[in-house]
Amino acid sequence: MTLNGGEPACAESRARVVAEIGASERFVLVTHEHPDGDALGSLIAMQAVLRSLGKDSIMFIAADELPLPREYRFFDLEGVSSVAPVDLDQRTAVFLDCGNIERNPAHVLRDVAPLLNIDHHHDNTRFGTVNHVAPGASCTAEVIWDLMAELEVALTPAIATALYVGLITDTGRFSYENTGPRAHRMAAELIEAGVDVAGVYRRIYEGIPYAKLELLGRALEGVVRYDGGSLAMAFLTERDYAAAGAEESYAEGIIDHLRAVDGTKVAALVRELLTGDKRGQLKVSLRATGDDVDVSAIARAHGGGGHRRAAGFTTQLSVPALVEGLRGQVAERLGRGIPSTA
Ligand code: AMP
Ligand code: MN
Ligand code: MN
Repeated sequence: MTLNGGEPACAESRARVVAEIGASERFVLVTHEHPDGDALGSLIAMQAVLRSLGKDSIMFIAADELPLPREYRFFDLEGVSSVAPVDLDQRTAVFLDCGNIERNPAHVLRDVAPLLNIDHHHDNTRFGTVNHVAPGASCTAEVIWDLMAELEVALTPAIATALYVGLITDTGRFSYENTGPRAHRMAAELIEAGVDVAGVYRRIYEGIPYAKLELLGRALEGVVRYDGGSLAMAFLTERDYAAAGAEESYAEGIIDHLRAVDGTKVAALVRELLTGDKRGQLKVSLRATGDDVDVSAIARAHGGGGHRRAAGFTTQLSVPALVEGLRGQVAERLGRGIPSTA
């Protein structure tokens, strides 16, 4: 039993992570490509935890991910590097919030050992030498909060704020199914440790650049509802970003509007990637409104993954082929016939 009652099923792997942290002096931390609030919050918090234990720790963020999306720029990136450390072979790698190794932007970090894989995706491919995967945790930040209790590292306002960002972004501000009593207990503890709740909210959700609103407008104009509205899709091309004057990260949150519509079973946002080595490919985000469709299974069929109600993948399919495929996959899971291409 940990001090704050972490997921019991993971006690063994948690103990292994604690032992590895105790045994290593140098670390390199990495998270998934196009990092979200949980990815960055977990990275920043873990960095501070390791440093408070007197460890030498470097955070890796690929050059094309910097600067971070506007809402995360308040994070202190002291200790970040976009090149692999020269003493990589003497470092323990820690992968955070990364369901599979393909989502890691630093290919050079793949072969590091020990490799601690700390995550909460149920379909994590267990690519680490230690796999500490807690599918019952609302966010990877929660997994770190558990580890801190075991490591006897106290919360500071900076660590609490980073964990809180992971918690609110992955729970949709405490609205998704992964929001349970534990998420709220964690929030209470983080607030007691000094989180400025309204300040974090303003940084993450307000001060929106007008171009983000323009991009949302363009996406909503092009929404197509298939099969009685059960599948609602929006599309963004490179031209849409250019016309709106928008950055890639401004697409965040658009899918929630589709998900919220009465009758939607699955919402999909399809957008052209503007940066990175997958530039030009389509990034597909999926959200389900109920238990009848596990969108992570659809994403896995396309080489991606995620959670049952929030998943994603990247594809080289054409838009028509992608739409046809998704309609079939959703209809099949809803127990309906394969839709005709009307
Ligand atoms: P997104 O649609 O990018 O907001 O992602 C929703 C969820 O799906 C998150 O939990 C992601 O970690 C996961 N996810 C998104 N894209 C991928 C991918 N290519 N492979 C595995 N998981 C993904
Ligand atoms: Mn994430
Ligand atoms: Mn997460």
